[in-house]
Formats: sequence, structure tokens, C-alpha cells
Amino acid sequence: MFGREGFELGEKTEHARGKSIGGHAYDGAKTMRAVISGGAGFLGSHLCDYLLERGWEVLSIDNLVTGAEANIRHLAGHPRFRLVRHDVTKFIDVPGPVDYVLHFASPASPVDYLKLPIQTLKVGALGTHNTLGLALAKKAKYFLASTSECYGDPNVSPQPETYWGNVNPIGPRGVYDEAKRFAEAMVMAYHRAHGLDTHIVRIFNTYGPRMRLNDGRALPNFVHQALTGQPITVYGTGKQTRSFCYVSDLIEGIYRLMQSDEHEPTNIGNPQEITILEFAERIRALLGATTPIVFEPLPQDDPKQRCPDISKARRLLHWEPKVSLEEGLQLTLEFFKKQFAETQAR
Ligand code: UDP
Repeated sequence: MFGREGFELGEKTEHARGKSIGGHAYDGAKTMRAVISGGAGFLGSHLCDYLLERGWEVLSIDNLVTGAEANIRHLAGHPRFRLVRHDVTKFIDVPGPVDYVLHFASPASPVDYLKLPIQTLKVGALGTHNTLGLALAKKAKYFLASTSECYGDPNVSPQPETYWGNVNPIGPRGVYDEAKRFAEAMVMAYHRAHGLDTHIVRIFNTYGPRMRLNDGRALPNFVHQALTGQPITVYGTGKQTRSFCYVSDLIEGIYRLMQSDEHEPTNIGNPQEITILEFAERIRALLGATTPIVFEPLPQDDPKQRCPDISKARRLLHWEPKVSLEEGLQLTLEFFKKQFAETQAR
């Protein structure tokens, strides 16, 4: 178990295998042990929950630079969960066997990665190398959280996995886009050169509880502005599009991809496309806000359109999103309202 006695980084405690504690183990025969980098982040923490519910043991590694302990506070004391504070751009040593290494650590909102450009490049490059090294040493499977940003400002829409993208390598977003493109290249090299069993998901815009109200993304910004009576800032004309996937759909797609035999990148996202202006108007209406929408300059290299082609996920994983934007927004706004009320009460 990743219990108190056995899972500090650098410790040398052996793991007793073969015991499944509640839920269903991955292969029915033994408890699966996962190491998740970025396990205290928005997506990483939902993935921890999902695997724990299925009987896995989870070691979450996070340096909490954009992740938050609050995302995993409900797991404190869980017998199959452990959080270790560590920067995965540094060597990772984990005692005992590991079945799956999942690399989810990275700043992921444009505002975050513009604030942390070098850390973003390092976690995509060195963090990927270190987590791959861990998987190789443990003979574990490997999973990379990649991104639709690999397509840059796409000339093709919707974007299939076969599209190579239109990325400005030296623009401000290049630090994230190129780090993830490098990460994908590195994962494929480990797969080809070492025969590592690897998987790559390209994650499109995802939303849901545990997004940070101050992460600078469109949804948290609009919600924060609506709740505080400030004007809602739409960048550019607002005609640029995004396609928003609710977090539970995304995690389900990831789990299916983890279990598949597919090694090349697979898009997971919701193909329901919406303009940012329409999105802002929906959030304003749902929150009953009366503040105006104001237009501000479009950030450099902001993609004009983004929509996943999910035919591959449909075909290989029999997956497609189930939660409508309306339903997902209701759930997310409830979370944000609660979080906002808590910060106001402090
Ligand atoms: N955006 C906006 N107002 C904001 C924040 C973002 O109009 O306050 C726009 C942004 O320019 C982009 C879209 O909303 O076109 C989505 O931005 P986000 O930061 O959520 O993520 P991205 O999809 O660009 O990674």
C-alpha cells in the first residue's frame, strides 16, 4: 500500500502485492499501483479519485506550483492514497513496484504558463524524461497528458490526430505547445526504442469543479467577473471558438485509453463548438449577471478555432462525451459559487 510506512520518495520499502482493498482492481487479480505526477492539479486530482474508486493505490507527486492541496484534501488519510511534494523535473525515486506512471504535471492555463515559462518547458521536457525513466525502471505502463495546443492555431477544423499543427515555436504560447510536442516525441521514442507500453491523450478544453477561479482561463475569469460585478472581458471579437468537455467525460476517456493498445496520440474532448462571445453570454445569463461584456485585445497566437475530431476515440475506445454544456456548466457554477462564498467569508 502507499501507506505511511512505504511510499516516501527515496525510501526502500517493498510492497506487499496481491491484496485488493475495496473496489475493483484494474485486472481483477491484484491492486494496481499508479504514480500520478500533477496529482494535486485540476485533472490529476480527478484522476486520483477515479482510480481510487476502482481499487487502485495512488501516489500523487506534485510540487504544488499550480496544483493545490485543497484538491486532494478529501483524500487525506485514505489508506491507498499518498501525496508527495516533489518537482518531477528532478530525479524521481519511488520504492516498490509501480504498474502505471501517468504524467499530468504542468502549468496548463495560458496565464499560468506565461507566468512560468521555464518551469513549463522543463516539466514538459525533463519531467517527461524523468517519468519515462521511472516507468522503464519499474516496467510500468506510461501515460502522457498532452494537449490540443499541439495543433497550435489550426488551419484544419475539426482537428484529427493526423494533423501536424500550426505552432509558433518562439511565441509566448510556444513554451507550452513545444514542451508538449517534445513530450510526445520523447514518449514515442521510449515506445520505439525501449518497447515501453505508452499512451498519449491530446486533451481539449476541459472544465469542471477544482478549476482555479484565478487561473486566467475564459470560464473562471467570466465567472469571477460575473460574481464580483466586474465587466466580462472577451478577448478579440469573441468569434474565436472552443469546445468544452466536462471533466468526468474526459477522465472516463482517459481511463479507456489507459487500457487500450493504442500508442499514438488520441484526441479526447467534446466536439460541441461555441464562440467565446456566446460562451460569455451563457455564463452571464446563468449567473444572472448584469455587468457588460467588454472587448479586450486578443493575446498573441490565440487559436481562432478549436474543435476535436473524436472519430478515433469513438472507434477505438467506444467513448464519446455524455455531459451537455448546460449540465456541466450548472455543476461547475455550483462549485465556483461555493468556493467564492468561502473566500468571501474568510
Ligand atoms: N478569453 C477571453 N477572456 C478571458 C479569458 C480568455 O475572451 O478573460 C479567450 C481567450 O482569448 C481564448 C478563449 O477565451 O480565445 C479560451 O481561453 P482559455 O484561456 O480558457 O484557454 P485556451 O483555449 O486559449 O487554452
